[in-house]
Amino acid sequence: MTLEIQVLTVFPQLFETFLDTAFVGQARAKGLATVEVHDLRGWAQDRHRSVDDTPYGGGPGMVMTPEPLIPAIEALAGPLGPDRACRVVALSPQGRRLDQAGLERLGAERSLLLVCGRYEGIDQRVLDLAVDEEISLGDYVLSGGEIPAMAVIEGLVRLVPGVLGNPESAQIESFGGDLLEGPQYTRPPDYRGRRVPEVLRSGDHEAIARWRRAEALQRTRERRPDLLGRRGSDETES
Ligand code: SAM
Repeated sequence: MTLEIQVLTVFPQLFETFLDTAFVGQARAKGLATVEVHDLRGWAQDRHRSVDDTPYGGGPGMVMTPEPLIPAIEALAGPLGPDRACRVVALSPQGRRLDQAGLERLGAERSLLLVCGRYEGIDQRVLDLAVDEEISLGDYVLSGGEIPAMAVIEGLVRLVPGVLGNPESAQIESFGGDLLEGPQYTRPPDYRGRRVPEVLRSGDHEAIARWRRAEALQRTRERRPDLLGRRGSDETES
């Protein structure tokens, strides 16, 4: 199944290199994902191609207006209403914080429209009428939804079967289960007196798997004990 993503933004140029690079570029070239970026100003009505206006009630900055946002969303995702085939996601610091389970849930959608805010944000009526959910990258404020949208796209593309060379990669990585991934090493075997753990060079695959699991558990206990037992595995903090 092809992952179909559309993006609505006032800065489409931000996506240019991103869409042609690394796994996202490869997934698009192989037809495993499509990503279309649309310039919101294409739906603007006035000769200045405005997308924002001053906030009612006063205050700093500008707010993105329902015109042209709602007509743009309708054109890209279909008429408003529960039967719409495309899930509309607005990037917002007030949204549900993105995590791996959230990416897996979004990845099950056939088609997604990512709406990038700018300025002071989006008029509430757009969120009420035309957006299915709001997603945040974390508890901090960026200037726009474009980088959060890229994070969502990159995270989703990794989950599409056939994108990662080794499909196991996505499962054994941090957050694939209840554990962070343990430490990893490559050549040289000795770097400035720091040696690669002998077990990793032993060729004993069972011993390596046991060592990796123990390291992952220890790292998770130290750094993210809140993850243990969260995703229904038998991992518990003991
Ligand atoms: N006034 C808004 C507030 O206090 O919640 C913040 C607006 S922010 C400057 C402009 C846009 O950047 C938002 O509409 C959103 O699209 C995007 N944005 C900023 N921080 C984000 C975050 N942590 N996660 C997702 N999107 C974010």
